[in-house]
Amino acid sequence: MTETIEFQAEARQLLQLMIHSIYSDKDVFLRELISNASDALDKLRMESYRDKDLGVDTSDLHVELRTDAAARTLTITDNGIGMSRDDVVNLIGTIARSGTAETLSKLREAQASGSEEATAELIGQFGIGFYSSFMVADRVEMTTRRAGTDGGVHWESAGEGTYELSEVADAPQGTSITVYLKAEDAEDNLHDYADPSVVRRIVKRYSDFITWPILLNPSGATDTVVEGAEEDSEPDTSNEPINSRKALWARPRSEVSDEEYAEFYRHVSHDWQEPLETMRFTGEGTFEYQALLFLPAHAPMDLYYRDAKRGVQLYVKRVFVMEDCEALVPEYLRFVKGVVDAQDLSLNVSREILQQDRQIQLIRKRLVKRVLQTITGLRGEDAEKYGTFWRECGRALKEGLLSDQDNTQAILEASSFASTHDPEKLTTLADYVARMPEGQESIYYVTGESRTAVENSPHIEAFRAKGYEVLLLTDQVDEVWVGMVPSYGTGDTAKPFASIAQGDVDLSDDAEKPEGFDDLLAWMTTTLADDVSEVRLSTRLTTSPACLVGEVGGLPPQLEQMMRSMGQEIPVQKRALELNPKHPLVENLRAAHAAKPDDAGIADTASLLHDMALLAEGGELKEPSAFVGKLAQRLAATL
Ligand code: ADP
Ligand code: MG
Repeated sequence: MTETIEFQAEARQLLQLMIHSIYSDKDVFLRELISNASDALDKLRMESYRDKDLGVDTSDLHVELRTDAAARTLTITDNGIGMSRDDVVNLIGTIARSGTAETLSKLREAQASGSEEATAELIGQFGIGFYSSFMVADRVEMTTRRAGTDGGVHWESAGEGTYELSEVADAPQGTSITVYLKAEDAEDNLHDYADPSVVRRIVKRYSDFITWPILLNPSGATDTVVEGAEEDSEPDTSNEPINSRKALWARPRSEVSDEEYAEFYRHVSHDWQEPLETMRFTGEGTFEYQALLFLPAHAPMDLYYRDAKRGVQLYVKRVFVMEDCEALVPEYLRFVKGVVDAQDLSLNVSREILQQDRQIQLIRKRLVKRVLQTITGLRGEDAEKYGTFWRECGRALKEGLLSDQDNTQAILEASSFASTHDPEKLTTLADYVARMPEGQESIYYVTGESRTAVENSPHIEAFRAKGYEVLLLTDQVDEVWVGMVPSYGTGDTAKPFASIAQGDVDLSDDAEKPEGFDDLLAWMTTTLADDVSEVRLSTRLTTSPACLVGEVGGLPPQLEQMMRSMGQEIPVQKRALELNPKHPLVENLRAAHAAKPDDAGIADTASLLHDMALLAEGGELKEPSAFVGKLAQRLAATL
């Protein structure tokens, strides 16, 4: 019985993009299919370790490529884990990755605007995988059987909206995919993928490092005769693997080219683009290991989703053991991709045991240090690369300030911040400290939702006027880390972080305190007692009449709002209202209050001052209509 099933909407859109693909390098479809086959072989071996009763022969795991020039097909077969019917529907018929919808809508925009470059770039970020076969095929067929189960499944599709599924009684275990090739077309970069020499070249270029043997038309192949093939060319039939199978991290550094690293990166990351930076290091002595790690050139699609995966794979003596090895990398470095190959672990080590393993903990420590050093180093060596990294992954890195106390200073060192010093450029904390004028003891910052909001914050005025630089922190994670990290630097030279919107600061130049405000302040403190903890004079304002100031260590208002919106009950935190004694409104209020303390209009003005301070920092009024009513009345009184 054959069922016809519709692709999920997102999958359909992606397939359309593939069929009409403007992605120039069509050869990569083979890399993707071999990468999947290799993953399937890894998974089977792992499963057979875990499940001794699986009952599959794992002694001859390999990938087989068969070309058929007459039928114009290329078949990629693996005897790996295979898929059940449900697997096929869920893994091939749908795309379930976080961030898909967003990337797709960007892709549609790019296509609609006719920008080939943007489209290709986005496809590259997306990493199309299996669907890339539709760049070169009119039709794709797949037969697969999940290891340890009986019935197989046949799948086929022309990529146009639907696919067909049927049961196959005697399918071999593993997966076999046949692509029915479109006509060769030099202009479209479609090569003859039914030509063994073309296939051999592509495997050499993209998949040489795959650790499983890749066989090309091994004996028994139905068609190995290629029209026009030269007599003395390499034989197209051989039972020798066509890939060298050498682990890159085990080869001398000087022998591995950037291109090979890039292809390996693509295999482990499922990214189609090149890595931003490659890192290699080894540990010797009691715990021997090798690491080959990459920084991505763009944020992985799921980076800021809850289910984001960590990208480092664990190998033991060249043998793949597990992907997304969370014991090896902290969550905040989840964008790091690559491989750690450890010598002295058991092949069937579990995730739970890994968390406790001393060797793994040491490797993890070293890995974190190395990655942070690399990022910091990148800024000096290649500012543009660093800028790319920071734009894409900086927010994730800063999460480490909340979770990794041991490396707080190294993370701060690797980070960059917007600041009032140069609105165009980010600054390091070291540079900030170097610019601190005499008398400035703290690193001042302001947090808020956007650049405009914080740059126009009333709190910032006097800092600007006094030439004190202020860091402009607008990522959500900033609100949290500034509350947890007390200072930058260690020992005597450590500089504390201080919010410009919290605590008492003294920025006054003249020692003289403005006089005569005591009555007004006392009266306002009582009148506004429901809303503020205190009313006091400010030295941080130059042009605004008033601002609201929190306690040091108190919850910033944005964070308070965020936590409330997540349903947390938080006691109301009253802040202090600071008045600018030089502002005419404040000065006149003082005089009016001294002359006529009981005037109702003065009480309204006091309340308006508070509401204005709240509005100025982007806050929300409790009762906007009351505010408008009072304002209208006060304005009318002036006319
Ligand atoms: P990705 O490899 O990035 O997950 P793909 O589109 O390449 O995305 O593949 C989708 C999924 O289909 C894979 O994650 C895997 O679960 C499954 N799959 C693809 N090819 C095979 C195969 N040869 N054997 C078993 N499963 C496969
Ligand atoms: Mg894949």
